[in-house]
Amino acid sequence: KRPIITVVGSINMDLVTESETFPKPGETLLGRHFSTFPGGKGANQAVAAARLGAEVRMIGCVGDDAFGKELTDTIANEQIDTDAILVQAEKTGIASICLAEGDNQIIVVPGANHALLPEHIKAHEDLIRTSDLVLVQLEIPAQTVDAAVETAHTYGVPVIVNPAPIQALSSTIRSFATYLTPNEHEAAVLKKEHNDEELHKKCIVTQGKEGVSYPAANGQQSEIPGFSVDAIDTTGAGDTFNGALAVALGHGSPLDEACVFASAAAALAVTKKGAQTGMPHLNDVTRFLKDNGTSVSFLS
Ligand code: ATP
Repeated sequence: KRPIITVVGSINMDLVTESETFPKPGETLLGRHFSTFPGGKGANQAVAAARLGAEVRMIGCVGDDAFGKELTDTIANEQIDTDAILVQAEKTGIASICLAEGDNQIIVVPGANHALLPEHIKAHEDLIRTSDLVLVQLEIPAQTVDAAVETAHTYGVPVIVNPAPIQALSSTIRSFATYLTPNEHEAAVLKKEHNDEELHKKCIVTQGKEGVSYPAANGQQSEIPGFSVDAIDTTGAGDTFNGALAVALGHGSPLDEACVFASAAAALAVTKKGAQTGMPHLNDVTRFLKDNGTSVSFLS
């Protein structure tokens, strides 16, 4: 049976310019290249989960503009249910990314993502109620995240909160999230913000190529080393990890196996360019695990 996953989160268009140098204030430069990529942590994680075999529903919000239509089509092309993607009289969220001098400068304008309100969670609570797992990030209004987490809790549906971009967590998230998935930087901020042992026991901390640290059954943190790959582009590693973790846990996989599966999927993602474009399909991960002499029970 395919796990059913509802993702509540952001949908953005990434607008990427490449130039020799960054423009100074008041300066106009000729760039080398321009491209657009579908993005937003919500959409990225939904795509990762869908490619790995889950039945995915997306709750999000786009504007009534061309980007909104294009992004919704892209999500639908991944066989994700887009019925709960709202269209509001706003601009679709964008990230304006300047690549130059081997570095980047990024401006994110949330736009329609900030028009995703708790009442929309209420209107679609049946999607949450009938899911095996719910996945949320923090690129939408805090009260909407709370509404999604609270609804999942009410119906006894496990919920993963990816605390990115990092901020102090509401008491709703701290009480009702099943797992949190910070990276190392986010985990350090959480440690500083919240003096809460119980919270840290829910943290699955991703550590780039070092792998992942997760709460084992004995109450201690356990480590899974990263898979060794030739990293080409780490964009989307975290989003792939989260989507894959949701799929494995949605299958009822134990946490250690779920972390192995998610690490394998994320390792494959860094071997390809782009966020969504680099995300693996289920057969890629199955083959990769086999080649690495590992297996997870839900795949056999
Ligand atoms: P990003 O913001 O780049 O998408 P992140 O900071 O949210 O990522 P990371 O901890 O960097 O998250 O990476 C997530 C997971 O991806 C890691 O736990 C690991 O399993 C895998 N991963 C990342 N980089 C590598 C790498 N170079 N080699 C192998 N696996 C990697």
